[in-house]
Amino acid sequence: MKAYQDMNQEELKTLHQELLKQYQAMKDLHLQLNMARGKPDFSQIQLSMPMLDTINSHYDFSNQKDYCNYGILDGINEAKQFFANMLMTTSEHIIVYGNSSLTIMFDQISRGYTHGYLGNTPWCRLDKIKFLCPVPGYDRHFAITEHFGFEMIPIPMDENGPDMDLVEKYVQEDETVKGIWCVPQYSNPSGITYSDKVVDRFAHLKPAAKDFRIFWDNAYVVHHLYADKQSHVKDILKACEDAGNPDMVFEFCSTSKVTFPGAGVAAMATSLNNKKDSLKHMSIQSIGHDKLNQLRHAQYFHNVESLTQHMEKQADVLKPKFEMVIDIFNRELADLKIGKWTKPLGGYFITFEALEDCAKNIVQKCKEAGVILTNAGATFPYGHDPHDSIIRIAPSYPPLDELKQATELFVLCVKLVSIEKLLEN
Ligand code: PMP
Repeated sequence: MKAYQDMNQEELKTLHQELLKQYQAMKDLHLQLNMARGKPDFSQIQLSMPMLDTINSHYDFSNQKDYCNYGILDGINEAKQFFANMLMTTSEHIIVYGNSSLTIMFDQISRGYTHGYLGNTPWCRLDKIKFLCPVPGYDRHFAITEHFGFEMIPIPMDENGPDMDLVEKYVQEDETVKGIWCVPQYSNPSGITYSDKVVDRFAHLKPAAKDFRIFWDNAYVVHHLYADKQSHVKDILKACEDAGNPDMVFEFCSTSKVTFPGAGVAAMATSLNNKKDSLKHMSIQSIGHDKLNQLRHAQYFHNVESLTQHMEKQADVLKPKFEMVIDIFNRELADLKIGKWTKPLGGYFITFEALEDCAKNIVQKCKEAGVILTNAGATFPYGHDPHDSIIRIAPSYPPLDELKQATELFVLCVKLVSIEKLLEN
């Protein structure tokens, strides 16, 4: 196949007419498909159903009676150990919460805003707060910082993580910079994992603001697609401790995409100082989280192997979906030079990079033919992708046959919009 850039106007126009006919035929199918959000499908969720039977009315609570009552604000020991194993840290660093890590992140930001961390001035009393936002990133992170009125500064990323020269410059020279959002392993949406060097540079930051924090959202820490090809991000807590910056990081994770989204368990790992500080506020906020769900998870994943085996079963469902999308991209688009895409080893997303100024139109064309994608721009602060080229593909939720149709339509829309762009120039 010839690259579109190598075709003359006549060739492009002829091809455009053919593709329009194919597009109309797809539209006539009245599809109603969704590749917008990274949700597990029901067959993945079913893998966790037996967990619901681990704690039932016959369970022997003899040593764990307190788990059925108020209290134990920082979580039961078994659940702390479970998350410590997951995050490769030790259980004294862990607070186990309720069902959502996003809620913890929101709470941490609001604690900084209303009361300040470790005795520092609450952010609400300061004129300006800035947050660094590696891009493309997770739209809900950006929504939180926008909600609090913080200025968001996009930081470009490559396959090793954020541009650390820029991060160092902002963090070390500007005391209004109070935080950075990071998804360090199988990043949402680019799928990259931060290199050890990047983690070390984070740990050795010398922030101008005493209350600067790294919001390290390790949402995909055990979400490998391949048993034999895995990325593991270095332990940031330990790296910060070793670098003499123990209080600089809040690390988050949850079992939302291990067991049940919305009915899993979430945790934060941080220094002992930060933990004490957070618990002081939490003791006003809550008398304790859902410890029966914590126990259910700890019982079901009673050792590291049981979690590994479970995640391998999850991968067995996800892998064919990722591979099918990537195969279609390779077959249909590789020679045309009208886009690039990631081939992640884990996580929930594929990032597609279209020609400049094409992403919004591609998403719109897909929508008109019945396939919903994440809004173009959503992976950037304020929804603004300066090149209008990044599209987040979430292959997990639709069944394989629907995903195939949706991907074929997507590819068709990429071709159509790219030709229209080239004809304009
Ligand atoms: N962080 C990231 C990077 C995510 O992709 C998601 C889910 N899409 C979440 C957090 C949400 O996690 P939770 O369900 O624990 O709130």
